[in-house]
Amino acid sequence: MRNSRCLKYRPAALLKKALCFCLLFLSLAGCSHPPAIGSSLPPLRPGELDAIERELSAHLSDPRYPDEQAILVTVREGLKGAKERNGGIGACLVRKSTGEVIEQAHNRQYVPYFRSDLHAEMDLLDRYEEKMKLTRSSDPNNPTFRNPRNMKGIVLYTSLEPCPMCITRIINSGVKEVYYAATDEEGGMAQRFDNLPPSWKRMGEGMVIKPARCSPELRALAARLFRPMYMAVDHNH
Ligand SMILES: [Zn+2]
Repeated sequence: MRNSRCLKYRPAALLKKALCFCLLFLSLAGCSHPPAIGSSLPPLRPGELDAIERELSAHLSDPRYPDEQAILVTVREGLKGAKERNGGIGACLVRKSTGEVIEQAHNRQYVPYFRSDLHAEMDLLDRYEEKMKLTRSSDPNNPTFRNPRNMKGIVLYTSLEPCPMCITRIINSGVKEVYYAATDEEGGMAQRFDNLPPSWKRMGEGMVIKPARCSPELRALAARLFRPMYMAVDHNH
């Protein structure tokens, strides 16, 4: 008994044990390092955009899904973004009572020049607010007199689950209803809405942020468009 206990604590055995701990620690530390956004997604293959475009033009809207038309607009916008070598994400604002698309946009982060703010939803709201030019005037005779955050009856659709930046922007804009086609498991904030700071959560109280009611085919196209861009001429950067 005594002998076997001594063997267990031999210097060589201790060294081996320490080495194992070190390796375990290093591998755990490596795992906990957060991956770059989108890094776990395979890159868009050359020719894939053409394939997506062909499938999108051949896509027959399914009337059983109430968000099909609006999501089709967002995916078409996403394709435009991808073809410009921006992000393949699109968004639109729809008047609920009529189904009219009142604004549409896509990601413009990289072309014509880098703009870290121009995610599709941000560009969409920029365009809408620039058009409306609403003020906080308390003078009812002012033609723009209105609560600028009164977005009643206006729904925001996007091809991808909004990120944290876009969720807070949407909350701040006053939009209360949001539907997205593809989920973003790594960067999406809709699924993590409860993790927002308390005041943003309060401001967004009663909001609907849900996966869109669209066909699985359209949802799959939206997901395929959300990929690190294939930069054919960008080998040196
Ligand atoms: Zn975003």
